[in-house]
Amino acid sequence: MTDPAGPAETDWAAAVAAVRGVPGDGRVLLICHVNPDGDALGSMLGFGLGLRRIGVGRVQATFPGPPEVPETLRGLPGEELLVPATDADPRPDLVVCFDAASESRLGELVDRLGTAATSVVLDHHASNTRFGAVNLVDPRAAATSVLVDGLLTRLGVPLDAAIAECLYVALSTDTGSFRFEATTPEVHRFAARLLATGIRPGDISRRIFDTRPFGAVRLFGEVAGRARLEPDAAGGRGLVWTWATLDDLARYGQRPYVLEALIDSVRCTAEADVSCVVKQTGAGEWAVSLRSKGAVDVSRVAVALGGGGHRFAAGFTGRGSADQVVDAIRRELDGALLDVTGG
Ligand code: AMP
Ligand code: MN
Ligand code: MN
Repeated sequence: MTDPAGPAETDWAAAVAAVRGVPGDGRVLLICHVNPDGDALGSMLGFGLGLRRIGVGRVQATFPGPPEVPETLRGLPGEELLVPATDADPRPDLVVCFDAASESRLGELVDRLGTAATSVVLDHHASNTRFGAVNLVDPRAAATSVLVDGLLTRLGVPLDAAIAECLYVALSTDTGSFRFEATTPEVHRFAARLLATGIRPGDISRRIFDTRPFGAVRLFGEVAGRARLEPDAAGGRGLVWTWATLDDLARYGQRPYVLEALIDSVRCTAEADVSCVVKQTGAGEWAVSLRSKGAVDVSRVAVALGGGGHRFAAGFTGRGSADQVVDAIRRELDGALLDVTGG
């Protein structure tokens, strides 16, 4: 399991050596988790730009599945490094993975861990399985971008506005715009350094949090309108949940990734500690998002059902009908209550 104290200086040194060991004409492949969010993509592109600044080899950035970047994350600096998974180097000199707790989050790209000469994993999930040759894993870090910053600093890469924009998108995504518990003084000090490069937080936040197509606004209205509240679930802490099908998406002409923000419209429910959105991805297959306000460790629920995540934000792939998926969640919830009296 992961050292709760985060990477040791020997781990940082090994990661620096792995990057410095890439030959002048060498090839680096950066991979982030499937269905990339702001932390996955921002951390990866920020690091890619950093490698370019110090002239490290040829850099490709990619993620498993269709090469589709959510609209809200398009236009990030370093986007030109992105290649479809099908074009990713089959035998890179170095592979670096971002924000993925386990190999299963790398989909069809997982074989690169074997074919690459060496690998470095940067992540902040407590459940990280340390699947790299070098692992920079810190569960106390608010975002993977904190680890990227640590490695870029040790590589002597100066922070510029392009890198900072990527890392800011990552940090503000995973802290919910600096609202979540992980928003420590260190997080604000890191954000201050990023802002000092001249990036524009108003523009960035509007783009990533406050922009969606009108069709998505109406779709959210319909899907939130059929949410169910179960006050007795989770040992009386309460569960609120809703679901969206591929047919719902089609009716409003929307792409699946727009539903990633849906959990934020549901989790504000005062009467429930746990919130859940069940999003259809195929026949009898659902991407499930779970959130907790603090009484329930939803990562335990997600792990028990084959997924992963953090204590208060987790997910898994559900199978069967939406009702069957929620039945399974209800069963796991009682076992996931935290000892709230213990602080
Ligand atoms: P999401 O609800 O998609 O925003 O995901 C919340 C958190 O749960 C993320 O930080 C992921 O680490 C984790 N997560 C979501 N889906 C899965 C999955 N299928 N397997 C493992 N972890 C997941
Ligand atoms: Mn992520
Ligand atoms: Mn993250």
